Amino acid sequence: MIDIGVNLTSSQFDGDRDEVLGRAKAAGVSALILTGTNLAESRAVADYAASQAGFCYATAGIHPHDAKTFDAHSLSRLHELAMRPEVVAIGECGLDYNRDFSPRPQQDAVFEAQLELAAELQLPVFMHCRDAHQRFMDILTPWRSKLPAAVLHCFTGSEAELRDCLALDLHIGITGWICDERRGQDLQRLVSLIPGNRLMIETDSPYLLPRDLSPKPASRRNEPAYLPHIAHRIAACRGESPEALIADTRATSRAFFRL
Ligand SMILES: [Zn+2]
Repeated sequence: MIDIGVNLTSSQFDGDRDEVLGRAKAAGVSALILTGTNLAESRAVADYAASQAGFCYATAGIHPHDAKTFDAHSLSRLHELAMRPEVVAIGECGLDYNRDFSPRPQQDAVFEAQLELAAELQLPVFMHCRDAHQRFMDILTPWRSKLPAAVLHCFTGSEAELRDCLALDLHIGITGWICDERRGQDLQRLVSLIPGNRLMIETDSPYLLPRDLSPKPASRRNEPAYLPHIAHRIAACRGESPEALIADTRATSRAFFRL
């Protein structure tokens, strides 16, 4: 199974990054897509992926939280990174109107600049959207037909939002959010609406530790080794066998990122 969202350069992994990888492999995880969230992080995850070729791959992009760091040189730096063989997508990019760590007009412009780069390079995009659905759709829609593929990672929205995303032929990334007995309820119902060839799975580690994990790690840190737990929960919600869900999401992820 393939974890399409891992923030492996997080300082939370500084003490045991290699052990985290070893535990993921032992748990049956066959590949990790490491998330780049700004230029420095994108370079770091590409370097790390290069050192773990065949198991780790990387995205290169600027997260909406970091949109305020985007300057005249950012696009050419991203372009250079995107040419590296271990970089398989542009992102994480998108909009976050929940935390608003960057001004909204700058988030919008930086998102669109990365869609344009992905279209130019014919790379898939790895996207984030929080409390900005309509603006996200407005910016993305004119670009969609020019992009080879696009995933909205960590989907936690409404049924109407999910239907909009599927109508635009987006892939959907589902995290351990679905394991939350309270705030995951909508997602538990909605996940059946996602066709098997559009569904991918992710931990978004070290964030979003599945709330129903038992025993819970003392650190409260999420890691890719917990992906099977999330896969089993998603399969149960969809009324599928875990084996079928794991095979389908693996095939979908391999096709999406061209692994
Ligand atoms: Zn995100």
